[in-house]
Amino acid sequence: MAIERTFSILKPDATRRNLTGKINAVIEGAGLRIVAQKRIHMTTAQAEAFYGVHSERGFFRDLVTFMTSGPVVVQVLEGENAVLKHREVMGATNPANADEGTIRKLFAESIEANSVHGSDSLENAATELAYFFAGTEIVG
Ligand code: ADP
Ligand code: MG
Repeated sequence: MAIERTFSILKPDATRRNLTGKINAVIEGAGLRIVAQKRIHMTTAQAEAFYGVHSERGFFRDLVTFMTSGPVVVQVLEGENAVLKHREVMGATNPANADEGTIRKLFAESIEANSVHGSDSLENAATELAYFFAGTEIVG
């Protein structure tokens, strides 16, 4: 296994309910290190570009509206096998299908307001984190 970096978002439902510390505790408890983090309010253009791969899906407009409905916390996580490890600790997209102890099982409100984003591959992680962070903002 290799040390990887992945990209994470704590979504507006998490900031609204003041859950960022509780979610970070689960992330850190899984052995991932938060090596960059900032709170931003995504613009519509940013959310549309970030979720561009889903632009043909029926839920796309609602997703963009949700992701711009309040602040988010964007993060870079680092650790052994970080991409897969983070996906595991997030749990399934639909919290009804998420395993016990995962962030989405613990905190998600719905399949849309599911508290966290995580990159699904090392390649997408590199693209996604570069969208929000300069190299100098990532401190490993
Ligand atoms: P994941 O975040 O688990 O990688 P996807 O990449 O498939 O899931 O979807 C991106 C985001 O779009 C999800 O996290 C969720 O917020 C939203 N989403 C996915 N599927 C649906 C759906 N069927 N209805 C509403 N929102 C959805
Ligand atoms: Mg995804």
